[in-house]
Amino acid sequence: MNAVVLKPGRDKAVRNRHHWIFSGAIRDLPGFDDGSILPVRSAAGDLLGHGYFNRRSSITGRMVSFGDEPAETAIRRSVERAIALRAGFFDPEVTNARRLINAEGDGLPGLIADLYDDVLVLQVATLGMEKLKPLVVDLLTAALRPRAIIEKSDLPARREEGLGDAEAVLAGDAVGKVRILEAGTPYWVSLAQGQKTGFYLDQRESRRLVRECAPGRRVLNTFAYTGSFSVCAILGGAVRADSVDSSAAAMALAQENFELNGLSSDSGVFFTADVFEFLREPALDHDFIILDPPAFAKKRTDVVQACRGYKDINRLALQRVKAPGLVLTFSCSHFVDEGLFQQVVFQAAGEAGRRVRILQRHRQAFDHPVNIYHPETAYLKGFLLYVD
Ligand code: SAH
Repeated sequence: MNAVVLKPGRDKAVRNRHHWIFSGAIRDLPGFDDGSILPVRSAAGDLLGHGYFNRRSSITGRMVSFGDEPAETAIRRSVERAIALRAGFFDPEVTNARRLINAEGDGLPGLIADLYDDVLVLQVATLGMEKLKPLVVDLLTAALRPRAIIEKSDLPARREEGLGDAEAVLAGDAVGKVRILEAGTPYWVSLAQGQKTGFYLDQRESRRLVRECAPGRRVLNTFAYTGSFSVCAILGGAVRADSVDSSAAAMALAQENFELNGLSSDSGVFFTADVFEFLREPALDHDFIILDPPAFAKKRTDVVQACRGYKDINRLALQRVKAPGLVLTFSCSHFVDEGLFQQVVFQAAGEAGRRVRILQRHRQAFDHPVNIYHPETAYLKGFLLYVD
């Protein structure tokens, strides 16, 4: 089979098990259909592994196997290993939702699989993974026997791959809403209307933190989505937890999550509003503000603009929080690393003129593993700040 041959000296990343091959590293590209799997060789002719390729994408190739392991064997093993990695960590009577496959974090570029009780939700980001989908569905069906497999691939990154959005029932019957349990707390996950695969599983450990920090506090949960931080705050002993999100559907489900947990209707108000404006409301009296915005930087060229956005909301929150107070602030942009995010918060603190200390640093939950060979898999970072 015709192989992709890398330029001399440009094989180091792949030898180090990094998954991506940029067009600039390629010497020879044979004829092939976009999305197919090809062997990858160094300029000297060594077989480095197999990857799927798409000429339309700036990341032309993504490795699915390294060395001489055949591609399909490697994909099977990666799926098995991803399932094995999570096995044993979760008691399904207490927590029955988890990320099963975290793309490059589990050696499977372009694939996310989240399990919500007995419903599996897939998100496919690339044409190469689109072609592997039947194999992946077979493997996951055999391993997990889910009630349904739903695809929710509505990622802007798919455009670059020449793909549109895809929502489909891949196995079983359509599922509108699933009730999950996390740390014994029930939440509704809307598969019909939800964002991403339905629930922000990556914030599981931060939800526990919110619960611990909540006693006696007046909490403002901004970018609240379906209100999971607000639920945790009240269950943890907050006197109030108000939620703000621009999505009315998300706020409606947040309210249902309060009802599901038997929380009284006066324990928090749900505002459908823009956070940038809401944080300027004169009447705020909160002493714990949570900032969990969507990724402001979707590509590298967005970073400067994104940092401006992060600085604005952090400055406003640091100005508005009652002292002694807490601000729990996150960025989930790949392109804004922890050092840069800390610098943005530093500037926001200076402009707010408040005394600010970092109490803790936060990352994505452990079922979203960071591949040591592919550090781009780290995306979520957060600081718990103390303001007095
Ligand atoms: N903290 C949530 C996840 C937040 S996702 C959780 O743990 O479940 C980001 C949310 O921000 C989305 O629900 C989106 O609707 C909302 N959003 C995006 N831009 C916004 C804006 N300018 N003002 C208010 N909400 C916004």
